[in-house]
Amino acid sequence: MIPPGATLGLLGGGQLGRMFTMAAQRMGYRVAVLDPGLHSPAGDVADEHILADYDDPEGLAHLARSCAAATTEFENVPAEALRFLAQYCVVSPAADSVAVAQDRIREKEFLAGAGFEVTPFAVIREGTELEGFGAGMLYPGILKVSRFGYDGKGQASVAGPAEALRAWRAMGGEPCVLEKRMSLAAEVSVVVARDFAGRVCTFPVAENQHRHGILDVSIVPARVPETLAEQARSVAVAVAQALDYRGVLCVEMFVLGDGRLLVNEIAPRPHNSGHYTLDACVTSQFEQQVRVLAGLPLGDPGLHCPAVMVNLLGDLWAHGEPDWRLVLEHPRAKLHLYGKREARPRRKMGHYTVLADSVEAALSTALAIKERLE
Ligand code: ADP
Ligand code: MG
Repeated sequence: MIPPGATLGLLGGGQLGRMFTMAAQRMGYRVAVLDPGLHSPAGDVADEHILADYDDPEGLAHLARSCAAATTEFENVPAEALRFLAQYCVVSPAADSVAVAQDRIREKEFLAGAGFEVTPFAVIREGTELEGFGAGMLYPGILKVSRFGYDGKGQASVAGPAEALRAWRAMGGEPCVLEKRMSLAAEVSVVVARDFAGRVCTFPVAENQHRHGILDVSIVPARVPETLAEQARSVAVAVAQALDYRGVLCVEMFVLGDGRLLVNEIAPRPHNSGHYTLDACVTSQFEQQVRVLAGLPLGDPGLHCPAVMVNLLGDLWAHGEPDWRLVLEHPRAKLHLYGKREARPRRKMGHYTVLADSVEAALSTALAIKERLE
């Protein structure tokens, strides 16, 4: 166990890192953040900010010297960086897990290979593969770049091979995954924590609504049958076990009309759809990340009450700072802002969570606030 007072290292300075940092500091840890930006949500609150690229050997060596353990807050850090750090300190998640999650081709092949149901897909490395027999049955589909896509970026809806070829070229002819577009009854996600002894614990299932490929609203508990929620939690645990994962992992899933559950993607870190845990659970996903990393016992993921989380994107700042009284006048609404200095369209600036005695009440208050803010 790494005792409070020690320094925990973090690769990445985004909002997920900020919330990890705050959770760690509350428990008495110091946090050193390595991030290439002069200002970042996590770098601004960390005890130490190492200004360096993720693959900078000196920056990484500095981090390794400062920390007893290190983690990451986003999947696009080079797995090599984690591998390097692992020579000097405890690292979670492992480089190998991150390498799978950061590459859609590897991710799909891992999931399908381990027996999880996924959306029908084809791996596209050459343009000609877009018109082959395998691709033919995937239209209308979604072409997704294998590396560095997020929040719907690096994705294109494609009706047929000709359009797919144009989209593939426009995306730089990079390796891609072509997925069949599914008709979704719902989307759910489960955040799961697995510690170094292999103990696992899952947070309640979130029901997620997206807008323009970006998470918009998470509703907890998900409005799905109890058996399906149980199944989603078991799938998340099985994914973590199949990866021999150590740390906090989010498994995003599609629910089809016939009740089938497909694994969409995995994120090797806390997740936007788990932000509700900050206000609605005994232990948040960030505290759980701290606990795994420091070798502390896992905390209780139990839900205090139903909750609905709404993302605040930069678009809301089009006419200046939004009027936060619209959120705060509701005593059971909790506002979180990430301290980003510039509001750009579609940039995640913050979120709010509404707590209530029923999902319906939380949702109606959350949506009423949203309507007034917009
Ligand atoms: P990202 O890395 O941007 O989160 P996702 O693959 O999760 O990428 O896609 C973002 C969203 O787009 C999903 O949450 C879902 O709403 C929609 N989507 C993605 N793939 C499919 C699909 N095959 N069929 C239907 N909707 C999809
Ligand atoms: Mg996603």
